[in-house]
Amino acid sequence: MDAFRDPPAAREKVLHSFRHRLGNIPTRGSSFFIHLSELCPVACEHCMYSSDLERKSDKVALSRRELEDAIRFISESSSQKLNITGGGEPFLKFSSILRLLETVEVPRIEIVTAGHWAMSPKRTARMMRQIDEARSRNPVNPELLLRLSIDRYHLNAPRPVRIEHYGNVLRCWSESRPGFAVGLRSIQPDMGTVDRMIAKEVGAGVERVDDWNRLLVLPGGMTVPLTFNVFRRSGKALRLTEDHSGATKTIREYYGPFESRPGNLSLATAVNDAIRGEYTASTGVAVTLNSDGTFWIFCGTAPDRRLLLEKQSFAEAVAYFFEDPITHLLVDEGIWALSDLVMEMDPRTHAGALAKNDSASLVDDLLAPDDVRLAVTLIAAHRQVTRDRATVDAEHPLARMLADPAADMARMCRDTVLANRESR
Ligand code: SF4
Repeated sequence: MDAFRDPPAAREKVLHSFRHRLGNIPTRGSSFFIHLSELCPVACEHCMYSSDLERKSDKVALSRRELEDAIRFISESSSQKLNITGGGEPFLKFSSILRLLETVEVPRIEIVTAGHWAMSPKRTARMMRQIDEARSRNPVNPELLLRLSIDRYHLNAPRPVRIEHYGNVLRCWSESRPGFAVGLRSIQPDMGTVDRMIAKEVGAGVERVDDWNRLLVLPGGMTVPLTFNVFRRSGKALRLTEDHSGATKTIREYYGPFESRPGNLSLATAVNDAIRGEYTASTGVAVTLNSDGTFWIFCGTAPDRRLLLEKQSFAEAVAYFFEDPITHLLVDEGIWALSDLVMEMDPRTHAGALAKNDSASLVDDLLAPDDVRLAVTLIAAHRQVTRDRATVDAEHPLARMLADPAADMARMCRDTVLANRESR
């Protein structure tokens, strides 16, 4: 196919001509992930973000003005949940956490932290009081969960989190009984180790809930949910020598129970609630806003379609993302539909992407090669047009083929990409 001579230009041309039918795109958010900083003092050797105190980009955190823009945007999105998380350690921007807690209009908030800041009982009590006070100033009174990451890599990091730090948080929480919940999250290879050490530190018991969930029962009876995530071999973990493959589920196994029908998993629309072992289907879209100000639909955006948060409305941003047929494919059919397409046309890229066992990097890795991205664009556009959910402008050179139900677009694209690989 001629289009494959210059895949980025050809993809851009399809996007310019692709018109989805009005009314079939989401109007609200589901989970919203905000990364306040790309830096982290702990510097775990398994960090999926490769985070430490070394700057990897010109812009490592949101400025005060950008944070206000983000708060406006998140509130406007009517997202069901805000996750203050990832990229690095959000507590490096503690004032931004407090500002989010007291202003953002969402019903639920989760803060993910390593807990390294809980160095003394006094400091822990002060920071947890500030968190509670900020949350209680919020007029929408959001439900809040403070989630601590616990595993061997945090304990053995260059600047480790110590068992006492976790103990400080749990003791302070059970004694002061603030208006928020605490949860713990570990990795499946560490089940029964770090959680037991923490239980011993605070005199708690550990009760089984199901295969991957436990309850820490504190003295006095308060309970803390504890969940075990898959082990992700992405970021710095790519350099680890230990092999956890026998001790962790694959993401396909882990997310199996959350598929809306067999093989269909749309993380682009789910409300992420890993600590309760839930990924709930939603009519909204999940959004990630990174510390450099860029944002995208989580597991729903090709890597060349990220936006910079400025003054755009939530509706304008969603409309931009849905100009891309790939977003329709990921929202309607989910990540495994993309995975299956790429497996057929570029097995090596597919194997590399799946080997990381990380949903956060999966879409970017599968769509990294230019020709694969174009191929998936054409296949997704063909599906949308032939299902009468979109049109392609008549002037586009492939308009007739994209509207032809008899055209085997998947085969043509697959053969072209495979031929590209063989000729290299
Ligand atoms: S604490 Fe979290 S963000 Fe920091 S290095 Fe460890 S895994 Fe990465």
